[in-house]
Amino acid sequence: MKTDVVVVGAGFAGMYMLYRLREAGFSARVLEVADGVGGTWYWNRYPGARCDVMSMDYSFSFDDALQKEWIWSEKYATQPEILRYANHVADRFDLRRDIQFETRVTSARFNESTQRWSVETDGGETFDTQYYIFASGCLSVPKAIDIEGQNGFAGATYHTADWPLDGVNFSGQRVAVIGTGSSGIQSMPIIAAQARALTVFQRTPAFSLPAENRPMDDDERARLQNDYPRRRAGSRHSLFGVPDYPMEKSAFEVSDEEREQAYEGAWDKGELIAIMQQYNDLLIDDAANETAANFVRNKIRSIVKDPDVAETLCPTSFPIGTKRACLDTGYYEMFNQDHVELVDLLKSPIEKITATGVKTSDREFEFDAIVFATGFDAMTGAIVNVDVRGVDGVELADKWDAGPRAYLGLAAHQFPNLFMITGPGSPSVMSNMIVSIEQHVEWITDCLVQARDNDVATIEATSEAEQLWVDHVNDVANMTLFPQANSWYMGANVPGKPRLFMPYIGGCGVYRDKCDEVAKNGYEGFTMSSHTVKHASAG
Ligand SMILES: Cc1cc2nc3c(=O)[nH]c(=O)nc-3n(C[C@H](O)[C@H](O)[C@H](O)COP(=O)(O)OP(=O)(O)OC[C@H]3O[C@@H](n4cnc5c(N)ncnc54)[C@H](O)[C@@H]3O)c2cc1C
Repeated sequence: MKTDVVVVGAGFAGMYMLYRLREAGFSARVLEVADGVGGTWYWNRYPGARCDVMSMDYSFSFDDALQKEWIWSEKYATQPEILRYANHVADRFDLRRDIQFETRVTSARFNESTQRWSVETDGGETFDTQYYIFASGCLSVPKAIDIEGQNGFAGATYHTADWPLDGVNFSGQRVAVIGTGSSGIQSMPIIAAQARALTVFQRTPAFSLPAENRPMDDDERARLQNDYPRRRAGSRHSLFGVPDYPMEKSAFEVSDEEREQAYEGAWDKGELIAIMQQYNDLLIDDAANETAANFVRNKIRSIVKDPDVAETLCPTSFPIGTKRACLDTGYYEMFNQDHVELVDLLKSPIEKITATGVKTSDREFEFDAIVFATGFDAMTGAIVNVDVRGVDGVELADKWDAGPRAYLGLAAHQFPNLFMITGPGSPSVMSNMIVSIEQHVEWITDCLVQARDNDVATIEATSEAEQLWVDHVNDVANMTLFPQANSWYMGANVPGKPRLFMPYIGGCGVYRDKCDEVAKNGYEGFTMSSHTVKHASAG
């Protein structure tokens, strides 16, 4: 099939990309593994799954009627509600007719003579396309589980990122959850409420803050909706894709009492950024960071009654905020229940999974079910899963062998006409991702329109621009405390994955300005070729 654009993935990024491409008059085909839209919210159906950016912010802003008509029922909507929203968007804009479900993209090859991509699927189809766009998600490939005996367990096993469509009832069961990142922390209080016994296997404790979730009442919704013009604009020019807190002072410009009070107020807000945006040095200065980390540790100690359990739950090996923080509902409180047990894998690592349960270095446990909440091969997993070959047959996976390299996190040298939505080197997972998705989709669409209007056949990032951007992403990360953590931002959760800070931490606003400037300067840092001659861009 011949088309102008192939888009991989029908999550929020793929859906909005399709909408914009159509509006701009391009033909496009979206290819999606799942049998429905929604991406993250299609796959992650574990109990307790919900967003941790307020739904009024974690939603599309591109269509005013859409943002006014959709009624979010809670401060942080659950997965079923977000999936309903994704389906509503697909229906409202009649997207499904250009989405091909149950189709996995397996390879993409750039043909230099035709200057087009040839994209193959697991169903044996080939698409001949001018542009190839990854909207395949930053957190869409569950990390491979590598525990001895994992297939020999006689009971049921589940992965939070591939949850059965019709749910699971854990009533009366002895359940293990392995992993204490966001998915584990969200799901466990609900699993604990059903299960006869819950055993939590923790390697690295997370800093988790109370979500303070609540139903949205009509007044609050109306107030936020009326404030949308200001709020959305603020988000677009913010650090993390949600309206910033002022952050005028250092943590040490105030007295201990004043600081403690500020943290207390921020804790009560139930927001990911509230504590970390109280002071402007919390993510760049160890001592300042420690004031916030200590505050949260003391909260954990005040909630969890058993002092040993509380200490095991207190993170000490990384600065607060440098691993994805979590928002929870009743997570720490859950450990006060008699049928919930915490196992510290740093003291007694898992040796193997047996037919009846889990064996650690000092104990054997029996379970009816094991839940893996072990995270994702983040940011690059879905991209390198496809066999992508650019100019001279160069493989993207080879190019990224020592870590991902992309100009603006959007495009890569030697891969003309290929774009990545929220790719490595862009704010992406460091932000409210819908804000970052909208920004990338709009930038890419403008770029394709410019190319069409100027009879450009290919657009490709230069090696120099790519190198400068990769250096800049690293320089900015190195000004912060982020590289200190063994986080999935660093690729540290996947054995053998190169360790470098993947997202751009300079902020959504700064990044947006940079992308706009690149476009304004004639797509500075890209080369463009006409249908016959290749030439450098003006910039
Ligand atoms: C549990 C969970 C909670 C989250 N909460 C938040 C939050 O509160 N706020 C926030 O900003 N972000 C959150 N995120 C991040 C979330 O991934 C993004 O917000 C957003 O949904 C990403 O949309 P996307 O379209 O880019 O990718 P996805 O939603 O991941 O969609 C990508 C799609 O591509 C498909 N795909 C991948 N590879 C192929 C292939 N080779 N061929 C065909 N199809 C393919 C996948 O099946 C998937 O459907 C959360 C993530 C998880 C896992």
